[in-house]
Amino acid sequence: MKIEPIASDSMGTRSMATYIETGDVKVLIDPGVALGPRRYGLSPHPLEYQKLEEDWKLIKSLAERSDVLVVTHYHYDHHSPEEPEIYEGKLVLLKHPTQNINLSQKRRASHFLEKLGELPESIEYCDGRSFAFGETELVFSKPVYHGTNPRLGYVTEVAICDGEECFVFSSDVEGPSIDEQADFILRQNPSIVYIDGPMSYMLGYRYAQASLDKSAENLVKILEETRVKTLVLDHHLLRDLEWKQKLSRVFEVAEKLGKSVMSAAQFAGKEELMLEAKRKVLYEKFPVE
Ligand SMILES: [Zn+2]
Ligand SMILES: [Zn+2]
Repeated sequence: MKIEPIASDSMGTRSMATYIETGDVKVLIDPGVALGPRRYGLSPHPLEYQKLEEDWKLIKSLAERSDVLVVTHYHYDHHSPEEPEIYEGKLVLLKHPTQNINLSQKRRASHFLEKLGELPESIEYCDGRSFAFGETELVFSKPVYHGTNPRLGYVTEVAICDGEECFVFSSDVEGPSIDEQADFILRQNPSIVYIDGPMSYMLGYRYAQASLDKSAENLVKILEETRVKTLVLDHHLLRDLEWKQKLSRVFEVAEKLGKSVMSAAQFAGKEELMLEAKRKVLYEKFPVE
């Protein structure tokens, strides 16, 4: 199984876009990319806009190569209603647009579906369902919280298993601090797992220490109780320059077990840029008129 993170916070933009190829099917999960609107009181640096453009081009080229496009929820770093052509002729598997969803995402979903129109070959709502392609199975979780509560809505986690490898993609769980979010991952017994780590850059005001502790506990559990070899952590977590210190316990346990923990950039063999977390430095190094 080929697993290729395409764009991510560690690589310089807000995204979890990931391309997976098995002997049976080519899948692109969450074809979207965005930038953090404000950080340290600063708007995105021109270098971030440049990376955004590059990433979007790459996402479009992989969408073209894919048979199946998955959208786990309706935030703009996970889908874009602007260029619906990328969904043309594809099987499109979407988070349910009206059930287990908050108002803002419900509106975005309805707009997105309008834009998609008749372009896809077909559209299926994927919450809690499974889809088979030869030996490969795509399994979707029931909707789980986007983060620590339902205020931001729900996401679907995804497992892609081909009989040998099993890859699990958590989407925006910001942890996982909630047992239901972790349970899906544990049940799939992945060999590789890609998780949206805790939102530790907002620790103390929009993310509680208790949620960080619970996330670390669940990540340790995933390392200890599944066959996972590689744990990829990114997205909300990689907006924090001190992400490794915040999850030092997870790294310790992984080392003891002979397993690896890394960012999506490292996993993809790309440069770790973390442009949003380094925005202040970017403006100092490359001043903008
Ligand atoms: Zn989101
Ligand atoms: Zn996101």
